[in-house]
Amino acid sequence: RLGGLAAEAGERAFLVGGLVRDIILHRRNTDVDVVVEGAAIDLGNRFAREYGWHLHAHQRFGTAVLLGPEGERIDLATSRIEHYPYPAALPEVEAGSIKADLFRRDFTINALAVELDGTRFGRLLDLFGGLQDIRQGTIRVLHSLSFVEDPTRILRAARFEAELAFQIDAQSLRLIRNAVDLELPARLSGHRLFRELRYLLEAGGAVEGVRRLAGLGMLRFVHPALEAERDGAVERVEAGRDVLDWYRLLFREEAPVRWKVLLTLLLWKLPPEELGDALTGFEVRSRDAHRITGDRRRADRFEQAVIGGAVRGEDPAGVFEHLERISLEIVLALMAVTGHAGVREAISHYIQHLRGIRGALSGSDLIELGVPQGPEVGRWLERLVRARVRGEVNSAEEERELVVR
Ligand code: ATP
Repeated sequence: RLGGLAAEAGERAFLVGGLVRDIILHRRNTDVDVVVEGAAIDLGNRFAREYGWHLHAHQRFGTAVLLGPEGERIDLATSRIEHYPYPAALPEVEAGSIKADLFRRDFTINALAVELDGTRFGRLLDLFGGLQDIRQGTIRVLHSLSFVEDPTRILRAARFEAELAFQIDAQSLRLIRNAVDLELPARLSGHRLFRELRYLLEAGGAVEGVRRLAGLGMLRFVHPALEAERDGAVERVEAGRDVLDWYRLLFREEAPVRWKVLLTLLLWKLPPEELGDALTGFEVRSRDAHRITGDRRRADRFEQAVIGGAVRGEDPAGVFEHLERISLEIVLALMAVTGHAGVREAISHYIQHLRGIRGALSGSDLIELGVPQGPEVGRWLERLVRARVRGEVNSAEEERELVVR
């Protein structure tokens, strides 16, 4: 329908990007990207009017998002040519042909297009050998300046390689090594570098991706401190992946954010203040950055408390008190990284049996039972949780008895 509308206006529309690749690979992907040789916003408007969809236009970029009645989403863009005024700069953009649009893309496997026009509907436009590269499992750039123009593609190459179980081709690998030798990734803003790193950490194959980055000498651009200890960093991320797998099999309701666990582990050797600086440099939301840094400190304190004997691993209330204040991500990260079996066991027990324990009675229940309104209520609520954690009460009835007594 979109292709038909475009054809009526004498324009051509194409399905492009990861979806084409993933259709060929029989992989799930819900990002529908369409490129128009023509005015994307106008086409979007016509489509929205004709079929009752909503349109969000970004005039500045000449792009639009079409939203369907059943949650469908189509991203529309005008085909474009990009010029890079200097290496690693953000590109300047002008309208161009589909061919030019595909040529600016990162890898051959992502530079395929499917024609949506009525008469040629479904025809695959494969200008750079992308189909063969998908079949052979090869990540290959389209031209030799690709990583100079945009060093984030190095992280993308590592991600696709790991996620799809593909191989970066030998020439592309040489081009990456050149770009790294020239220190080009150092010119990326923390924000752009981190965006791609986060995708990699969220992807299947994150460990292999990080190992690849380490092998390419890329980790120092994430943080200079990682240069000296690449093997350690990869091992920590691997341990983090194992803990996340273990956690998933517990089928708990609380779901950890994967990149937060793995990034914290990658940077675990940094003192918390430096971790905070790194997160700020990545432009991680300041609320997240504060939480991660604070939790990192609390995790250290907990570990020291167990090692020093101030908290006994077998004392559920002591463990609960420390860990309940730390986000799940950093608790899991500590479990992955600690060298102390007692700490690991305490966390394992806590996660399986204690995390998220709440009392059954509410504040108003307590007041009804005669607890005076005010701070006393809060103290009772905490006491009930502790009693639960210790196994002293197990039901609302037993909680009530404890209060009345
Ligand atoms: P996935 O959905 O697995 O993340 P994707 O290929 O859809 O993969 P996106 O980051 O959503 O990845 O990018 C969409 C498309 O935009 C890519 O397929 C690629 O053609 C193009 N693209 C994205 N980032 C770049 C880049 N840095 N340089 C060149 N082309 C890019």
